[in-house]
Amino acid sequence: MARLPQRPRVVIVGAGFGGLSAARGLARTPVDVTLIDRRNFHLFQPLLYQVATAGLNPSDVAWPVRSILRRQANVRVLLGEVAGVDVAGREVLIDDGRRLPYDWLVIATGTTHTYFGNDQWAAIAPGLKRIDDATLIRRRILMAFERAENAEDEAERKRLMTFVIVGAGPTGVELAGAIAELARKALAADFRAIDPRKARIVLIEGADRVLGTFPPELSGFAKAALERMGVEVRLGRRLTACDAGGVIASGERLPAGTILWAAGVAASPAAKWLGAPADRAGRVQVRPDLTVPRHPDVFVIGDTAALVQDGKPLPGIAPAAKQGGIYAAKVIRATVLGRPKPPPFRYRHYGALATIGRNSAVIDFGRIRMKGRLAWLIWSMTHIYFLIGGRNRLLVTLQWLFDYITFSRGARLIAGSDPASEQRSARGSHRFAGCSPAASGAGGAHVDHSQTWSTVPDAARGTSPVPGSLLSSPREPSAY
Ligand SMILES: Cc1cc2nc3c(=O)[nH]c(=O)nc-3n(C[C@H](O)[C@H](O)[C@H](O)COP(=O)(O)OP(=O)(O)OC[C@H]3O[C@@H](n4cnc5c(N)ncnc54)[C@H](O)[C@@H]3O)c2cc1C
Repeated sequence: MARLPQRPRVVIVGAGFGGLSAARGLARTPVDVTLIDRRNFHLFQPLLYQVATAGLNPSDVAWPVRSILRRQANVRVLLGEVAGVDVAGREVLIDDGRRLPYDWLVIATGTTHTYFGNDQWAAIAPGLKRIDDATLIRRRILMAFERAENAEDEAERKRLMTFVIVGAGPTGVELAGAIAELARKALAADFRAIDPRKARIVLIEGADRVLGTFPPELSGFAKAALERMGVEVRLGRRLTACDAGGVIASGERLPAGTILWAAGVAASPAAKWLGAPADRAGRVQVRPDLTVPRHPDVFVIGDTAALVQDGKPLPGIAPAAKQGGIYAAKVIRATVLGRPKPPPFRYRHYGALATIGRNSAVIDFGRIRMKGRLAWLIWSMTHIYFLIGGRNRLLVTLQWLFDYITFSRGARLIAGSDPASEQRSARGSHRFAGCSPAASGAGGAHVDHSQTWSTVPDAARGTSPVPGSLLSSPREPSAY
């Protein structure tokens, strides 16, 4: 019996916003798709800060990839960590030695944190990117209050109740606002020796305003709103040291029990795998059709791709990743079906949103700008709309309604372990070591977290602010 010709094989690496959109976009195309990710769930990162601050549970913001794609017969989902790509042999290399042959490859591996050469800060100041980061941060925040309740020394109690967030982009602003609400409302009556309302929340930023990629008027609103919530906003500060006792920013020592990093990201190592040109943030410099130079069969999309459009780099936000995935699927489909190739990729920016706290958010739709309660309602509805799965939408809506009415935060579990912090506390209370050469790194870090989130559907198209710099030049594009 004659063997049927094999269908083209598409391998997609990463089941985030970009990879998932590419896989779905190929639903009715005669190809065999393999979607590989190192975790078995798709993560809705925009609400991760709510897990970190005990507002939502991890399963509210994550959904199993197999279940999302179970009805799409041409997709096979694999769990595995990709370690490289053999572009000449057209194979994806998995870290357990398996090799996955492809005819088309779509890489959508996102970003990771960067501490700009100060990697020793990572254990002290976790960033927020994965579910594990969120539960670790939740643990540290809640443990800080527990330890303060047990502390006998007043200075140590104050230190434990000081929370420093480095970077005032959307993630930093969201974290600062949510910690302030947790301390001032949800935990207010729960302790006896301490008054959680006296917690000090300090937001440190290298630039001269928060939410640096939003229009100045909205940045000003966000700063004032944070300050009304009791957050101390320190602008124009360079972080030069960060250790178990606290931080030094522009020469000022700030003893702190919890330090959170919202200041920088770097792309996944895809450029190295492919031997492709990369920008300074490590993102693959793709061609206008999102393929890699000299490899028209390899697409790189989402946060790990760098492309300048209309003089601006594509932003590292979910809509850009989704649109990239849809576009890659269209090109593959057209080629497989022998149709004309679509014109080059064009990213459409619909708007940028950031929430500050209860009843407070900012939205930049370009010509239309909003702030306050209405913006917050739109932010809430948009995020619920974009969550995957009816179950998650329902649970998050109910949870938010309940928390809104009661000011509570239901997911206050101290779970998992935190070896770094436990080792430190076993050594007793922390005397702030100050700016040790080991901690300060080369020249310190100028924190300028510039990142805009945009999850708005077909609303007014704005001249979007694009992500700007983190630590180097203010115009340098970064993943977000
Ligand atoms: C805290 C936070 C809040 C955010 N808020 C917003 C927001 O409000 N609005 C907005 O638009 N954007 C927001 N973003 C940005 C948005 O989440 C990203 O732009 C988007 O996720 C990028 O999609 P992606 O597909 O490129 O990568 P990701 O969604 O990060 O997906 C990458 C996938 O690749 C997998 N992967 C990585 N390396 C490997 C490997 N070696 N092997 C196998 N699998 C691998 C990962 O497990 C992951 O599933 C936020 C980001 C963060 C971190």
